[in-house]
Amino acid sequence: MTCSLIFFLLFASPNISFGKEMSEEEAYQKRMELYKRVELTTQIPWYYIAAVDHYERSIRFVRKDIPKPGGITGIYIKPVQWAGWLNPNQTNPSLPSIELFNGFGIDGNGDGKANMNDDEDIIYSFANYILKYGIDEDHFRIALWNYYKRDRAVGLIMEKAKLYRHFGKLDLNAKTFPIPHRFNYSYRDTWGDRRGWGGRRIHEGTDIFAGYGVPVRSTCYGIVELKGWNKFGGWRVGIRDINNTYHYFAHLNGYAKDLHVGQIVEPGMLIGSVGSTGYGPPGTSGKFPPHLHYGMYKDNGYSEWSFDPYPHLRQWEWSDRKKRKN
Ligand SMILES: [Zn+2]
Repeated sequence: MTCSLIFFLLFASPNISFGKEMSEEEAYQKRMELYKRVELTTQIPWYYIAAVDHYERSIRFVRKDIPKPGGITGIYIKPVQWAGWLNPNQTNPSLPSIELFNGFGIDGNGDGKANMNDDEDIIYSFANYILKYGIDEDHFRIALWNYYKRDRAVGLIMEKAKLYRHFGKLDLNAKTFPIPHRFNYSYRDTWGDRRGWGGRRIHEGTDIFAGYGVPVRSTCYGIVELKGWNKFGGWRVGIRDINNTYHYFAHLNGYAKDLHVGQIVEPGMLIGSVGSTGYGPPGTSGKFPPHLHYGMYKDNGYSEWSFDPYPHLRQWEWSDRKKRKN
């Protein structure tokens, strides 16, 4: 329980640090204004800037070796990179000295300084870096690869950009309970229970019991990353959301028509139906009562781990109910 609470605090609210000064809504609005301003002057699509910014912010929340984001933007540029590697004045470099030492920083807000703590200066500096490559998708990818030197980082940023572009907004955190409320279902916290079949495994998820054919919906905004058979999970779907959390749906009876890998989904969208597939070769069904196995996984760029979805399911069920009443 303690473990899941920590995960909840870590991942439920990426904007927790400036909750006091600014509401989440205001932060989204301010960020969008900034991205649109950059787009207007550089022609770099706002969703590219937004995707990089979001990626950097999420990394800063899980890494201990770099400071937590304090402003609107999450992009972090090391002082030495900002000032230029050979610049003797690393902490408070002047604009001419940054230029002289070929530093990363530029003046974005027009005050004649390149301030590494100013949101506009930071974001325009990154935009300036992108412009050296080009603003179309291929050149943007190359720019990202040269910056991060990691395929995974490039892939995640491109997925985020795809979601932002499709939905035209930054707030893609809304969630929905996977089973529509009008159907009978039941579930309890079974995190860590032992599983018999296929050797000793612990139960990494929550089982939601419901009848065959009951609709299963996407819980989040995201992209379908996996669709297919596995001897444990039967017919499965995996969806990655904007915060790089992976949502796993198993033992499905079947899939929604036309559901495919790479598809963009949103909370409440039909993805399949409840079944009892799994525990054998493709098509095996009926070895246990029908239920949806729901799992959640987090990835920090180095490793992936599962966490208890139960408290989240409870919260989404509750917020769905509240929405219906309003
Ligand atoms: Zn299960």
